[in-house]
This record gives sequence, C-alpha cells and structure tokens, in this order.
Amino acid sequence: MKHVIALDVGGTGMKAALLAQDGSVLFEARRPTGREHGTDAVVAAILDFAADLADEGRTRHGCAPLAAGVAVPGTIDEKNGIAVFSANLGWRDLPLRKLLGERLGGLPVALGHDVRSGGLAEGRIGAGRGVDRFLFIALGTGIAGAIGIGGRIEAGAHGYGGEIGHVVVRPGGPLCGCGAHGCLETLASASAVSRAWATATGDPDADAAACAVAVENGDGRAAEIWQNAVDALADGIVLAQSLLDPSTVIVGGGLAEAGDTLFTPLRKAVSERLTFQMPPEVVPAMLRDTAASLGAGLLAWDLLSMEVTA
Ligand SMILES: [Zn+2]
Repeated sequence: MKHVIALDVGGTGMKAALLAQDGSVLFEARRPTGREHGTDAVVAAILDFAADLADEGRTRHGCAPLAAGVAVPGTIDEKNGIAVFSANLGWRDLPLRKLLGERLGGLPVALGHDVRSGGLAEGRIGAGRGVDRFLFIALGTGIAGAIGIGGRIEAGAHGYGGEIGHVVVRPGGPLCGCGAHGCLETLASASAVSRAWATATGDPDADAAACAVAVENGDGRAAEIWQNAVDALADGIVLAQSLLDPSTVIVGGGLAEAGDTLFTPLRKAVSERLTFQMPPEVVPAMLRDTAASLGAGLLAWDLLSMEVTA
C-alpha cells in the first residue's frame, strides 16, 4: 500500500507513523530524542528513525515510502526546509529537509512546525473534519495556535501566524517570556493555572489537573482561578473571532483534558462576549499527542499532490 513517513520531533520524544493517503495509520512507533546527548545526537536520532521507518515500510508493504513529513518545534523556515531555532533541542539553522532527503535516498521531504502540523491534522482528519475555516489552540506549557483556511494552515509572512498565546488580553498583566505583559499564555495556559493553584494551596506540586478536580468538587478558590483563565481565554477567542471568523475553534493541550469543566464555562464566556460576530463552535481536540505526527504525514501527501499538479 502506498504510504509516507510521518515524524513528530518533540522536546523529549519522537512519535512516528506510516500514513496512507486517506490519513489512516499503517504503523506507529516512538523513540526518545536523546537530547541529553547534545544536538548532533538528536539530529542523528532523527535521521536514523526516518531511515528505519523507510525500511519498516518496505518490509511491511513491499514498497518504499513516497515521501516524508517531519514536524519540529521552534522557529521554522518551511519554504527552505530549515529548522531555524529550537531552544529545547539546541539547533540553529539546521538544513533538516536536505539532510533527511539525502539520508532517505532523494525522497521528497516536507518540514513543518509542530503546532501548525497538529492543527492541520485536527482540521482535516480530527475535531474539525470537513470544516473549511478553523482556529486550533493548544493550552500547554504555553499557548500556541494555528489558523486553518481552506484545508491548509496559514503560517503568515514570517512563520509566526497563529501565535494567539501572545495576544495581550490583560494590559499591564503578568510578564510573559516574550517580554510583553498580560499575554494570554500568562493567564490561561496549563502552566499559568498550575502556578496560580500552587500559590493558592501552598502546595508546589498542585497543578492544573488538580485545580480542575477542585473546581468539580466545589472549591471556591479553585473556581475563581479557573474562571479567570476561562475569561482570559474567551477574550482571546473573541479577538480571533473578530479577526478571522472561523466556524470552529478546536481547543487541545493539557488544560483541555478537563473536558466539560473547561468547555461548558468557556462556551458561555465566549457567547457572552460576542456582539455582532457569529458564534464559533468550540470543540475539544481529538488527536491528542499524535496530532503533530499525523499532520507531518499530511504535509508529505500534500507535497506529492503538488508535484503531480505542478
Ligand atoms: Zn507573550
């Protein structure tokens, strides 16, 4: 069966798949990045993993993969296939597309950004399936996003499109890692809620998941912290709604694991803020931690269809 290699390189682990054209997963595997051994070792681990996946495809399906898609964190130059910078993995201006193409015997390779790849998969084969315009928001350590238009992700002119985590929703608010004050991610990321709940309880290990449980158990302090995060997130979503008018907002990441504890008050807070805008559907992401890998595979298939039509 025709297939492509799909590979998501995270801070600590890599997730890979062999993907058929309809997005179905033919094979899955995971490996550590080995970043404790340095950047060169990480790059070697990526190339080895890709080569092993190509062998796996040949053995299982009797033919070589047609292309490879790789999603990486940090700043990406998608057009030139360069992984520009990753604080986590330590590289600068790494020509990853070229290196992978060479290692895989000249196979076409697509290089994508992890969050945008995840958004692409959620929009095309996950929670936004069949939706033409969507916004994907990942609530994790920080907050990242991806703008889906016409089945593709809009990366912007400089590769920073969709950075909803750095929309200022509380001017003069907490200092953000980006240098601004009151960015959405300082208020509504899983880390922000964890910090607030740890301070409130005096327990440094108290996290956002524990805060959600406390909300469900009727704890007043937890409810206040939770509502502050929900309000900030609703402000960010309404700003995006005014600007982009998506039909669906897909919310994933650690905080979204709280399910209805998040989505019920979030939908209410969004609808209370809308004036003329049409309300988006606010839905949980479906693909969890496989989204970026699946999206990388979709990028590889897109590359092949572009070559056919070119
Ligand atoms: Zn910021």
